[in-house]
Amino acid sequence: MIFLDAAATTPVRREVLDAMWPYLTGEFGNPSSHHTLGEAAADALAGARSSIAAVLGCRAGEITFTSGGTEADNLAIKGIALARQAANPQLSRVVISAVEHPAVEESARYLERFHGFAVDVVPVDGEGLVRPEAFRAALRPETAVASVMYANNEVGTVQPIAELAALARGLGIPFHTDAVQAAGWLPLDTKALGVDAMSLSGHKIGAPKGCGLLFVRGRIRLEPLVHGGGQERGRRSGTENVAGAVGLATALTLAQARQAEERRRVAALRDMFIGAVLAGVPGAVLTGHPVDRLPSVASFCFPGTSGESVLLELERQGVVCSSGSACAAGSDAPSPVLTAMGIAPETAQTAIRFSFDAAVTEADLEAAAAAVLDAVGRVRALGG
Ligand code: PLP
Repeated sequence: MIFLDAAATTPVRREVLDAMWPYLTGEFGNPSSHHTLGEAAADALAGARSSIAAVLGCRAGEITFTSGGTEADNLAIKGIALARQAANPQLSRVVISAVEHPAVEESARYLERFHGFAVDVVPVDGEGLVRPEAFRAALRPETAVASVMYANNEVGTVQPIAELAALARGLGIPFHTDAVQAAGWLPLDTKALGVDAMSLSGHKIGAPKGCGLLFVRGRIRLEPLVHGGGQERGRRSGTENVAGAVGLATALTLAQARQAEERRRVAALRDMFIGAVLAGVPGAVLTGHPVDRLPSVASFCFPGTSGESVLLELERQGVVCSSGSACAAGSDAPSPVLTAMGIAPETAQTAIRFSFDAAVTEADLEAAAAAVLDAVGRVRALGG
């Protein structure tokens, strides 16, 4: 099997499992307990927090462990908006881009439905980019929080985050970015990016599912969403997932240590794959930005097919990929990300995303390109 669905999830890395193992077995303490077993767990949690802080260029106290990217996004959008509105009732708007993950989009819609906020959606261009002028135009004195994802999960377009963050911060508006897909591929230094909040998830980078984090700059107030024993400095109650935090720290450190050379190698393989598919499949359309895209994502529309039929045919040939985001898999509706980019709904329904990790080889992508040519040809011959 050639697994080209790494943007959906990745297997746990051996080093990550080894680092977690003690906290799943002998060192199983509750970090809030005051005996030695509890203290060992608290030390492990503190160690994980500091190594993540070193990668993100922030203070350990600015990191809140969560159950994943979805919870981190919810906490950022709802937590910042509600805390700011409590201090100043005029703050009643949220700015997001048109291509956000549902974890951000639905959090904003929740604020609209239940807390009277208005949601301002910044459009993207045909390549999925948020134009800084359009973003600036959406920011208003009443904006409580603004959020634009770092790299898109369906088409891989990378946003000019430092520029967007500077625009928001210049107006005193906290800026959040969902960096779930960026980890391992793009710089994550929160100071250099100038972001006030950033979400990450473990399972996209070789840690288990169910662990993630939210970075929030010290001065930003955050209303917790999960109430209870006051763990995580009161920002997220509940006994911490110690092994998950250790796994996340290990995976993040390994992913960000990836050398520029390795990133270039994967980007070159991606371009070779894109070139082979565009040259071999008549009418194939690359979606997303041709240059400002993740090294690990190649996404296309194949007009005259149904995405689902091509996926099935590819899987029969041993290539596993997806029609877009894993959360929308099986849905008949065209992807809102693609339609926001101006792609017609009937074309958007033919989308296929190939996403890989750093272990991908030239042979994998050559074989995958050949399978794509064959699969699209067969599906078209059968009438789509
Ligand atoms: N944000 C983006 C951009 C994602 O791709 C994903 C995962 O698909 C998430 C958030 C959600 O992360 P998790 O699966 O850890 O909840």
